[in-house]
Amino acid sequence: MHESGIAYDLYATARRAAIENGATRVIRIGVECGALAMVNPEQVRFLFSVMVEDDPLFAGTVLEMATVAPVMTCACGGYEGDDLFVCPGCGGLPSVVKGREIVVTSCEIDVEDVPA
Ligand SMILES: [Zn+2]
Repeated sequence: MHESGIAYDLYATARRAAIENGATRVIRIGVECGALAMVNPEQVRFLFSVMVEDDPLFAGTVLEMATVAPVMTCACGGYEGDDLFVCPGCGGLPSVVKGREIVVTSCEIDVEDVPA
């Protein structure tokens, strides 16, 4: 399933970032999800919560999924926007520049207090 692969990638990415930064807990993960990525954010969030269930690093972690509008351009060079099907300039078919990707944009962590 598409969503479980995505949830796993998010988990692996956040876990690596958390360990590299000496985190004791991951508080919040911000994810941008392209409108054309064809994922169900609710399902990703659910699968993610199941995946991290036994990982104390992720106790109570909030996964914030934001959907971002796609960006299309046309070969005529006269168009950049979010119209998926028709270039307003030449009537041609625009192509996708952005909108299929799923990106971790932020990762908020708790770090153990370093003794002075
Ligand atoms: Zn065009």
